[in-house]
Amino acid sequence: MNLPVTLVERTWDVIVAGGGTAGVFAGVSAARAGARVLVTESFGSVGGSGTNAQVTPLMRNVSSGVNLNRGLTDELKRRMNERGDGATDAGGNDNWFNPEGMKYVLERMLLDHGAELLYHTHVVAPVMEGERLTGMVVHNKGGLQEVRASVFIDATGDADLAVAAGVPFLAGDEDGIHQAMSLRFTLAGLDLSRLNAFLGPVGQGSLDPVFIHFWMVWEKGSKLEPLFRQAVEEGTLEERDGDYFQAFSMPGRPGELSFNCPRIRADLNDGADPWHLSAAQIDGREGIERLLRFCRLHLPGCETAYLAAYAPMVGVRESRRIRGDYTLTLDDILECRTFPDAVCRNHYPVDIHTVRNRERLQHTTTGDAPYFRKDAFHEIPYRAMLPVGVSNLLVPGRSASATFEAQSAIRVQQNCHSMGEAAGLAAALAAQGHGGEVRAVDPLALREQLKGLGANL
Ligand SMILES: Cc1cc2nc3c(=O)[nH]c(=O)nc-3n(C[C@H](O)[C@H](O)[C@H](O)COP(=O)(O)OP(=O)(O)OC[C@H]3O[C@@H](n4cnc5c(N)ncnc54)[C@H](O)[C@@H]3O)c2cc1C
Repeated sequence: MNLPVTLVERTWDVIVAGGGTAGVFAGVSAARAGARVLVTESFGSVGGSGTNAQVTPLMRNVSSGVNLNRGLTDELKRRMNERGDGATDAGGNDNWFNPEGMKYVLERMLLDHGAELLYHTHVVAPVMEGERLTGMVVHNKGGLQEVRASVFIDATGDADLAVAAGVPFLAGDEDGIHQAMSLRFTLAGLDLSRLNAFLGPVGQGSLDPVFIHFWMVWEKGSKLEPLFRQAVEEGTLEERDGDYFQAFSMPGRPGELSFNCPRIRADLNDGADPWHLSAAQIDGREGIERLLRFCRLHLPGCETAYLAAYAPMVGVRESRRIRGDYTLTLDDILECRTFPDAVCRNHYPVDIHTVRNRERLQHTTTGDAPYFRKDAFHEIPYRAMLPVGVSNLLVPGRSASATFEAQSAIRVQQNCHSMGEAAGLAAALAAQGHGGEVRAVDPLALREQLKGLGANL
C-alpha cells in the first residue's frame, strides 16, 4: 500500500520530534542560537511527561548545596515563580511546580525564543539518504507530510525516530523487563491543613501545608502502613496498591494533590508497546478508583475529595535506549566519572521502580562508592546523545545511551532539560557550520558555550 505523502515546501535548520521535557529545551536552545526550528508534538501542549503525565515535582539534583542543572532550567524556574506556578520551600528546594502552568510557560519559552510549534502531529517515519536523515514523515490532520531539516533531534522519549532510522537500541533490563509505568492523577476538594495535621504525628507532616509530600511503600518504614494494611483487608485497596503510593502538593493549587501512582500491572511494562499503553490507561483508572475511595475513607482532610484529572499520558519511566557513541554505565555513576565532552552533571541516584518482586526493588541512595558523598556528581558526555549509524541526529532525554541502571539515575527531568539544551545548541552549530553533521561539532567548544550560557559544567 503506497500512501500519498505531501512534501512541506518550507525547510528548517533543526526539527525536534517530541516537545516534551528534553524536546522543549532542545527547541529553545537551538532557536536561541539562531537556528530556524520546528518542534512537532503529538499532544496539544508541550512538556511531555512533566506536564501531560503530571510528573511533579522536579527531582532535586544538587551537589555541595548547588543545583547541577542551571542554564535554561533557571529561566524556566524564574518564569514559573513569577506566575505563582513554581515555588521554593523552607528547605531551599526550588523544584515544586504546577504542571498546567508549566504547559504555558514552556510554550512561551519556545515562541519567545523564535521556535515554531506543530501540535497534534505524530512522527511516523524517517526519510534517509545513506546515513543521513533528510526528512521525517509525520501524520496529522493534513494526512502524511514530509518535513525537512538539516539536523533532527529525537526527543520522543522512546527514540521513535532513531529506531525507525535503524539505530540499534536496548530496552528494559537484562531480560527486557522495563521499569513500572504509572498513571498519575490529581485530587481536588481537599483540606490540606487538616491532612497535614494528620501527617505530622506519623512523621510525614510539613512545616507549611503548601508543601506536602507523603508516601507509603510496603516494608519501607512508612507509619501509614497499618492504614494501608487495613484498607487491603477491608477490600478498599489491592495489595499491589501499596507497592508504591506517593502524593505531592502543587504551587498555586490550594486544596489539590498530585499522586505518583497507581503503578500499572506488572505484565504491562512496555511504554513503546501500544497494547501495553492502552491497557495501562484502563488498569490505571481502576487503580485511581480504589485510591480515591481510600483517601476519602482513611485520610483526614480528604473526605470530600474528587478526581480533578487523570494524566492524559501514561507515565513511562524507561522504554527504549539508543546505542550511542558512548553508553553511560553504573560504574560511571558510582565512580563519579567526568568527561571532556560533558553536557550535564548528575547526583540523582539509581532509582529503579521494578515490576519484579519487592525484594528486588532498588533505590540506591547510600553506599561506599565515591558517588554517595554530598559533593559528588558524575557527568554525561555529548557522545551519549549521538546515535550509532545516523550522522545528523541527536537523542537527548530518557532514551539517551545508557545501561538500564544508569538510565534510572539520569532520567529525571532536570537532566533531560540539560541534555535537551545541549542537543539544541549542538544541532544549531551543526546546521550553521558543519552541513548538519553532529559529530563535526567541537564538543569542548560546545561545553564552553553552554557554560557561558549558565550551565553548571
Ligand atoms: C511516573 C513517573 C514519575 C516520575 N517522577 C519524577 C519526579 O518526581 N521528578 C522528576 O524530575 N522526574 C520524574 N520522572 C522522570 C521524568 O519525568 C522523565 O524521565 C522525563 O520527563 C522524560 O523526558 P523526555 O523528554 O525524555 O520524554 P517526555 O517528557 O516524555 O517527552 C516526550 C515527548 O514526545 C512526544 N512524542 C512521543 N512520541 C512522539 C511521536 N512519535 N511523535 C511526536 N511526538 C511524540 C510526547 O508526547 C512527549 O511530549 C518520573 C517519570 C514517571 C513516568
